[in-house]
Amino acid sequence: MDFSLNEEQKLIQQAARDFAQNELLPEVIERDDAQRFPKEEIKKLGDLGFLGMMVDPKYGGSGLDTLSYVIAMEEISKIDASTSVVMSVNNSLVCWGLEKFGSEEQKEKYLTKLSTGEQIGAFCLSEPEAGSDATSQKTTAIDMGDHYIVNGTKNWITNGGTASTYLVIAQTDKEKKHRGINALIIEKGTPGFEIGPKENKLGIRGSDTHSLIFNDVKVPKENRIGEDGFGFKFAMKTLAGGRIGIAAQALGIAAGAYEMALKYSKERKAFGTEISNHQAIAFKLADMHTEIQAARLLVYRSALDKDNGKDYDLSGAMAKLYASKVAMETTVEAVQIHGGNGFVKDYHVERLMRDAKITQIYEGTSEIQKIVISRSILK
Ligand SMILES: Cc1cc2nc3c(=O)[nH]c(=O)nc-3n(C[C@H](O)[C@H](O)[C@H](O)COP(=O)(O)OP(=O)(O)OC[C@H]3O[C@@H](n4cnc5c(N)ncnc54)[C@H](O)[C@@H]3O)c2cc1C
Repeated sequence: MDFSLNEEQKLIQQAARDFAQNELLPEVIERDDAQRFPKEEIKKLGDLGFLGMMVDPKYGGSGLDTLSYVIAMEEISKIDASTSVVMSVNNSLVCWGLEKFGSEEQKEKYLTKLSTGEQIGAFCLSEPEAGSDATSQKTTAIDMGDHYIVNGTKNWITNGGTASTYLVIAQTDKEKKHRGINALIIEKGTPGFEIGPKENKLGIRGSDTHSLIFNDVKVPKENRIGEDGFGFKFAMKTLAGGRIGIAAQALGIAAGAYEMALKYSKERKAFGTEISNHQAIAFKLADMHTEIQAARLLVYRSALDKDNGKDYDLSGAMAKLYASKVAMETTVEAVQIHGGNGFVKDYHVERLMRDAKITQIYEGTSEIQKIVISRSILK
């Protein structure tokens, strides 16, 4: 197993690092405070080729591997997880899902715009009564011959207000349970499609989370992804890859908090010496460094599994479970190392601590990851 980065991957890492420092850092606190979506920054991220990183260049993508994507995700997440979640949803859930399972017409019409960042996508599975239990879909897509009529509500949709293209999971035939679910492409502005108010969140406050309401929305049959009844499988397959992106986000949040705590510990003095000279602080840094390295190995491993055509359900779930735990624990300790300064916004670590929590919740909670992992090892 060789985890060393090649020249191209090192260049991507540097480009992501520079982008995060120069474009994201300057206003990250203000965006978080005001819950402002990073519109200009996302446009620039698209120009860099970071919104369709794994998409074939013939559809406007960068044609890179999953490892390059997680490296970039880590660097962006060190500074701004609100931006990296937009990147993650667009890359892993929307572009990957469309490229892998969409028709040629769908790829020409939607993927080419989504992979360049000309448009942003959203992935719409969760509902008020169907989160972890995604089979309990209440949104319906009734088959009307050449089109579907969609009714229902989706909850917590990332890019909910800013997206142009929405991949919506809905129940067509309740009798068939998860085999009666379809995935449909719905465009913003389609009559009957309304966007609910923006959620006021604990973390990733710059990201744009909304509920979506569908009232008799007419969707042409050619907007269905895959065969009739493929929707649930589409969602699960797509989320399995999405978890690698969120694991990389968690890794980045942890690594960002660690780097800030390390720097601060060498500057701040207490009892006549830098706090890093107190063993209690030095040991915290040792634990953080060790756990981040372990998380990185799991994240890289899952990305390599995907790139090598191996099954990545298990490695992706383990990477997300572990990296999100490390993100939470590391950010709490980073705040502690900063003392009172850790509790105020100027030092960034309080924001990273708030942002870390979501990585244990979305794209499958930690409890759901343990179900995936335990099923895999027990079967
Ligand atoms: C900021 C944000 C952005 C999001 N973005 C999106 C998005 O873009 N698209 C989208 O579709 N969804 C999105 N979600 C939804 C997210 O994926 C769900 O919130 C998540 O899957 C959990 O579902 P739930 O909130 O309904 O919690 P529930 O499913 O009600 O779970 C509540 C608790 O019970 C636990 N639990 C549930 N079932 C079990 C079980 N069988 N065994 C053990 N414990 C269990 C859970 O782990 C959790 O701790 C987002 C959520 C947030 C907060």
